[in-house]
Order: sequence, then structure tokens, then C-alpha cells
Amino acid sequence: MVNPPVWRASTHLYENTARLAEGPRRNEDGRFFYGRRGAPTQWALCEALTQIEPGAAGTVLYPSGVAAIAGVLLTLLRPGDVLLMTDNAYDPSRTMGKGLLKDFGIETRFFDPLDLPAYEALFCEKTRAVLLEAPGSLSMEVCDLPALARIAREKGALSVLDNTWAGPLGFAALEKGFDVTLMALTKHVGGHSDLMMGSASAGEELYARLRQRAQQLGTVVSPDDAALALRGLRTLDVRLRQETASALKIAQWLSGRAEVAQVLCPMLPGAPGHELWKRDFTGGCGLFSFVFRDVHAAGRNRFVDALELFGIGYSWGGFESLALPIEPANYRSCMAWPPGGGAPADRFGVRLSIGLEDPDDLIADIEQALGRMAAS
Ligand SMILES: *Cc1c(COP(=O)(O)O)cnc(C)c1O
Repeated sequence: MVNPPVWRASTHLYENTARLAEGPRRNEDGRFFYGRRGAPTQWALCEALTQIEPGAAGTVLYPSGVAAIAGVLLTLLRPGDVLLMTDNAYDPSRTMGKGLLKDFGIETRFFDPLDLPAYEALFCEKTRAVLLEAPGSLSMEVCDLPALARIAREKGALSVLDNTWAGPLGFAALEKGFDVTLMALTKHVGGHSDLMMGSASAGEELYARLRQRAQQLGTVVSPDDAALALRGLRTLDVRLRQETASALKIAQWLSGRAEVAQVLCPMLPGAPGHELWKRDFTGGCGLFSFVFRDVHAAGRNRFVDALELFGIGYSWGGFESLALPIEPANYRSCMAWPPGGGAPADRFGVRLSIGLEDPDDLIADIEQALGRMAAS
């Protein structure tokens, strides 16, 4: 068989009480003991994810990307600790800092990841961990990830990267100095918009801690979903390369349009963050944003509504293209929006998740939607 079977099981039957008494060794994978600890289907997915993550000793699965973020932070942090979180983090991460973590006596401080001296100055004795994400959620800034991770290590804090955008094929987080890397498998690994899952990978010591905490929290994913994620993983590389090429073509086309003030696509030469992306990343994906020039929210929404090949919806990384109106100003504490000192009128944007359609068809669709935006 090429693929592992889907093992649906809660209970493992033992031959006799002596075998039962041998029990599982604590906190150890690879021996089927009870369904909550996973079964061979989930282990096969963990193993595959660990294999493509240089420097990882193991991978823990979570029922969603948000559950992965919570699982990791609740492993690393204790009451009284301070977490530094990048200001352009995925909004549910921000909400977690201000809600869940606060309730457990953990303080979250937001920082601008493009301002290294200010970031360095934020560390104090209580700073236990840093949560980074690049490119930034919605706004797509690329920060100097290796430098930010190095500073965290020098200051005695653990660094965590939400690496959902690039994944291990596009950015080898542990090799570049991060202690823990996590992903929403819901996005690229699933790849077909029919699966919710998350993962976190780390070296030996932290992997053991993550795994133990996940067990304490009762975290488990279904074997059916694990089989779907494994199937997605088989084609991850080709899908990412196709999406990246299409996104670049569309981003290039958009950058020549008068209606567009800025294209926020790190893969595009000349776009914000391109130089750091080129230096540190080994791949991209189909997700990027752009900001309109002097177009108000209503006009921007007319554009999105006029798109025919793009769905309107959350999430990304699937085979089908999606468009989402964005206004990152509502999701930040210390970073400026519009980006790069742009004119205040140029702040209404759209995030595109480019799928596997023909990029020329997508460009034609964007062109007709721009026409309809201007006509009304
Ligand atoms: C979608 C997303 C998540 C959360 O994943 P879910 O599976 O939807 O919970 C986390 N981080 C980033 C950057 C995301 O885009």
C-alpha cells in the first residue's frame, strides 16, 4: 500500500492483563494505547510533516490552526510571563493574547517587527516567548525573521513562528533559529478547502513538552482528517509552485494599473519586503494583497462583488481563488496603515488567494471587475 489505512479506533484490546500491565511508556508515540493518543494514520502525517521540517524532532497535530497557536502558547507560558507578539499577527492570535492568555495571568505586548531596536528594547525579565508571523497577516510585511529569532534567543526567550504562509518548503523556520514552528494545515496542506487542522514542530525537548501539554488538553484529530491532510501534503510542492507563479503574474499586472496604489506581494520585485523574502525564503504561495488608490470602501466592495471567478470568503490556500476586502487598520496597535506612509485615502484593500485556475482567466476577471467598479 502507498498510503496508511484510516485507523478509526478508540480502544486497543490487549491479549491479557500482563500485556495490559506493560502499558504504554509515558508520553511516547508509536505504540497504540488509546485513541486520544493518536493511531497510525495520525502518526504517518506527523512523521511526514517532521520529515519536511529541517531540525524537527517531532510534530504535534491540533484540530485547527488556532488550536495549534493556543496549544503552543499554553505549553511555553506561565502566569506572570510576558509574550511579545508581532503587531501584524493573525487576528485570532491577537485576540488570544488579549483574552485567553490574559485570563491566565500572561501579558501580551505588541511590537512592530520592522523596528528592530524598539523590539529589542521591549524585552524584560518576564519575557518568556515571542510570536512572529511573516508575511504579516493581511498586510504582508516581511520582517527580518532570522534577526528577530536571534535577538529572542540572546534575551533568553523562546521564539515561535506562525509559518502558515510559507510552510517548511518556503521557510525552514527551525533551521533559521526559531524554537517552534506552527502552521494551519487548513490552508495549503489541506489545499482543498475541506479540512480544519493545525500542527506544531520543534526539536526534541520542546516537542516532548508540546506533546505532553496537548495530551493534557485532550487534543486529538480524527484519522479521516489526517488521511485527507496526508493526501494534500503529497501535492503541496507542485500546488505551491503553480500558485506562486500565477500570483506573481497577477501581482505584476495589478502593479501596472492606475487604480492600484500598492501591491503587497513579497514575491514581486520592488514590492515591500521583496529583498528579505528573496534572502530568507525558498518559496512563496498564492496569497497577497493590494491597496486601491483613492477608492472608498463602497467602490472596493463593488470590485469584490463584481468578481466572477473569485469566491468571497475566509481562509486561503485552496485550489480555488478567493477575494477578501481588508482594512488592517482595525487589527493593529502600533504599526501604521496604510503601509509605507501611503496617502490616508489609499487604505482600502483586497486580499487575493490565488488558486489553480489559469492566471490569464483570473486577470481577465479582475480587469472586468475594475471596469465595473469604475462604471458605477
Ligand atoms: C487561518 C490561519 C490560522 C488559523 O487556522 P484555522 O485552521 O483556521 O484555525 C492561523 N494562522 C494563520 C496565519 C492563518 O492564516
